[in-house]
Amino acid sequence: MKVLNFINGELQEAVNGQSMDNYNPAKGEVYAQVPDSDHQDVHLAYDAAQAAYPNWSVLPAEEKFKYLNAIAEGIDKRRDEFALAESIDQGKPFWLAKNEMIRSAQNFRFFATAAMQFASESHATEDRAINYTLRQSIGVVGCISPWNLPLYLFSWKIAPALAAGNTVVAKPSEFTPATAHLLSEVCQEVGLPHGVLNIVHGLGPKVGQAMVEHPRIKAISFTGGTATGKHIAATAGPMFKKLSLELGGKNPNIIFEDADIEKAIKTTVNTSFLNQGEICLCGSRLLVHESLYDKVKEEMVKRAKALVVGDPQDEKTRVGAIVSKPHYEKVLSYIELAKQEGGRVLAGGEALHPEGFESGWFIAPTVIEGLGPACRTNTEEIFGPVITLMSFKTEEEALQIANATEYGLAATVWTENLTRAHRFASQLEFGIVWVNCWLLRDLRTPFGGAKSSGVGREGGWEAMRFFTEPKNVCIALK
Ligand code: NAD
Repeated sequence: MKVLNFINGELQEAVNGQSMDNYNPAKGEVYAQVPDSDHQDVHLAYDAAQAAYPNWSVLPAEEKFKYLNAIAEGIDKRRDEFALAESIDQGKPFWLAKNEMIRSAQNFRFFATAAMQFASESHATEDRAINYTLRQSIGVVGCISPWNLPLYLFSWKIAPALAAGNTVVAKPSEFTPATAHLLSEVCQEVGLPHGVLNIVHGLGPKVGQAMVEHPRIKAISFTGGTATGKHIAATAGPMFKKLSLELGGKNPNIIFEDADIEKAIKTTVNTSFLNQGEICLCGSRLLVHESLYDKVKEEMVKRAKALVVGDPQDEKTRVGAIVSKPHYEKVLSYIELAKQEGGRVLAGGEALHPEGFESGWFIAPTVIEGLGPACRTNTEEIFGPVITLMSFKTEEEALQIANATEYGLAATVWTENLTRAHRFASQLEFGIVWVNCWLLRDLRTPFGGAKSSGVGREGGWEAMRFFTEPKNVCIALK
């Protein structure tokens, strides 16, 4: 496969003519070439986006709706092709990639309707004045996304940015560029006006940095690691850019003594290991009431060991390959750290070499116990198929352990006690709390994290507000 930049409606090589290798993580082999772009491509993309902005920003909402819907249909029509590309590129099982392609198309469809529905407020100031708020598009905005849910998170930013009337310079992760390339083809197929969406491939410190530093890209929507987010904030802050930062997590999954235990365990297997544990919302710290601890431990170990790890294209596979060699090594090094910190590995804890995929980057679903809440294993993001088990005696103790991290993205709570569910949810320092479910998404809800997990929220009107500039107009009535 040859991945190309998409600038001003054209698929093209990087200006400097350089490209870099892209790996299939299940095989550990190079399978594609990706443009190794730099600031020159970002500047071209900006110029194209700026030239397209005057027409796109005033295009009637219904026309924007038609284009965004057409992109959704374009993804739907080529769903299997997109899913296969995502699975080969990222390492995730094909069946899971297929679900994500459905959801990526839904992102475009959802924000197509948002373009039609988004409205502003007015405030009558007694009989003296009428105030109203104009929500105007910003101009050219930048969208930067990570490798774990490549097209899903890419479209989650691009769709609202376009729906709100902006034109876009976007950068997918250099580890997973394939579906962004296919999206460029869909944009050509549906005749999206040139320059409305521009996609530049390449390394974060070159392409991403050039986007953040560009003096006229006025807003940056970023999803990725907390360290990268800090760096972006330090660069963009003094330029007074609008910033939305969706960062890392260390999510607790809390099972109370009154939980529906079978449902909790069944979902917790997914919460822990879906997408190889590489979902920012995965629960990596499992807190269990002491009365259920042995049962939950036994079941989690049994079920983790039973998960089929291997060929991402095989329907039976539950856990695919880890996205890249550096990340694979990072996850394995955290398992070693857990052992050094006194953790007992109850399941997994090692690399796997499935038949036919001996050179791929696979890690067995790993369950660890015996660690306190303050150790590095329990406070740093691992972002792989690794969970720790801890027990608690009281609700207060569970809350204290759950909140004992710098991160605040998502928490999952299992209890049949209604009062406790509400009380506990309100006290958790996390942007998202699931009660008796996980990853049950409604695209209208605010999405994002507290503390070091981010700044701002995505989703629904939150995203439309981020991608617009509010202007108060006050008209005197006397
Ligand atoms: P990353 O921070 O390494 O990279 C994310 C993106 O930023 C990539 O496109 C990368 O090329 C780019 N980038 C890197 N350096 C840059 C720079 N100096 N300037 C601008 N852009 C730069 O993250 P990753 O390893 O790709 O993704 C994993 C992380 O993403 C995890 O921490 C995970 O928790 C987080 N994540 C968060 C959410 C959320 O919604 N909060 C969702 C998914 C993933």
